[in-house]
Amino acid sequence: MNYLTKKVSKLAPYVAGMQPREQGWIKLNTNENPYPPSPKVAEALRQADLTDLRLYPDPVSTSLCRAIAEKLNVNAENIFCGNSSDEILALAYQAFLSGKKNVLTPDISYGFYPVWGKMYDVDLKCVPIGDDFAIDAEDYNDANGVILANPNAPTGQALSLAAVEQIVQSNTRGVVIIDEAYIDFADCESAVGLIDKYEHLLVVRTFSKSYALAGLRVGFAVGSEKLLDGLERVKNAFNAYPVNRLSQIGAAAAIRDEAYFNAKCAAIIKTRKRVEGVLNCAPAQANFIFWEVADGSKMYAYFLENKILVRHWEHPRIRNHLRVTIGTPQDMEEFVQCAKKF
Ligand SMILES: *Cc1c(COP(=O)(O)O)cnc(C)c1O
Repeated sequence: MNYLTKKVSKLAPYVAGMQPREQGWIKLNTNENPYPPSPKVAEALRQADLTDLRLYPDPVSTSLCRAIAEKLNVNAENIFCGNSSDEILALAYQAFLSGKKNVLTPDISYGFYPVWGKMYDVDLKCVPIGDDFAIDAEDYNDANGVILANPNAPTGQALSLAAVEQIVQSNTRGVVIIDEAYIDFADCESAVGLIDKYEHLLVVRTFSKSYALAGLRVGFAVGSEKLLDGLERVKNAFNAYPVNRLSQIGAAAAIRDEAYFNAKCAAIIKTRKRVEGVLNCAPAQANFIFWEVADGSKMYAYFLENKILVRHWEHPRIRNHLRVTIGTPQDMEEFVQCAKKF
C-alpha cells in the first residue's frame, strides 16, 4: 500500500549538505557562519524567563519585527517574521505563486525553488543564466511571478539595485520575490529600499548566515502590507506561532548588536577575498566561493577523504565547480593546503 499522495510520491525533495555528527571535519558545505553569534544573544537567552515557555509565543513576533525595522529603517508593519527564510519562501509560494503558469526563476539557483514549485503546483520556467553565470534582467518580463536569489547561490553573482528594479518594473502581474540570504556579504545594495515604491516586491532575509544563527531558525520578509497580509493568511492556515520565544529573543539581540555583526561580516569578506586571490577564482558576493576546477566530482571526493566538506552538484552546467563556504582563516588555510596537494 502506498500511503503517499500522488504529488508527494513524485516529489524530488531538497537535499541539504551533509551534517556530520563526529568531530574533526572542516565544514564548508552549508554556508554557516564560522564565528559564534553575538555574545549579546547568549546574554539575552540566559536572562530569558524560562517559565514563560509554558505560554505560546507572540504569534507575530512584535518586538523582533521592531528590532528589524529599526535596523533596516522601515516600518515594523512592513516586516514579517518566520521560522527560517525557507518557511517564509514556502508561505510566499502558497500565497502568491501556487497554481500559476509562467513564473520565472534562474536555471542555476537555490535548490529549494523547484522543490516548492512541485509542492505548490507552480509552473516554474527556468531562465538560463549567462555563460559567465550572470543573471540578465532583460530576460525577466511579463511573468506571473519571479523568484530569484540576489546575490545568487551557488554562483555568488549579484545584480545591481537598478537591475533588480528593472525586473520589478517589468513584472507587475505577479509578485517578485528577492531572496537576499547573502546580501550582507555583497557589494550591491538591498532591494529593501524599493518596497515603498512597489507593492508587488517581497524581499526575504535570514538570520542563518550573516547573523550566525542557523540553529535558531529565524527569517523575515520585507514588503507592502498587502503582501504581508497574504503571508499572514497562509501562516494562520498552517502554523500560527512559527517563531518560538527563545528565537524571538535571540534574533532581536543579534540584530541590535550592529558592531559585532559588522566586524564578523567584514572578517568573512576579508578571508573570502584572500582565498579568491590564492585560488585565482572569480569573485563571489557571498560567504562562499564558487570555484571552477578541472574535475568537480574528483576534487569533491578528495576533500571528503581529507575530512573537508564542500558542496558539489552534478548539474551539467556547474559540475566542475565547487561551492566552498568561507570558514575561519585557519579552516581556509587547511582547505587551500589540501587543494594544493591535490
Ligand atoms: C541558506 C539559504 C536560505 C535558507 O535560509 P534559512 O533561513 O536558514 O531557511 C534561503 N535562500 C538561500 C538562497 C539560501 O542560501
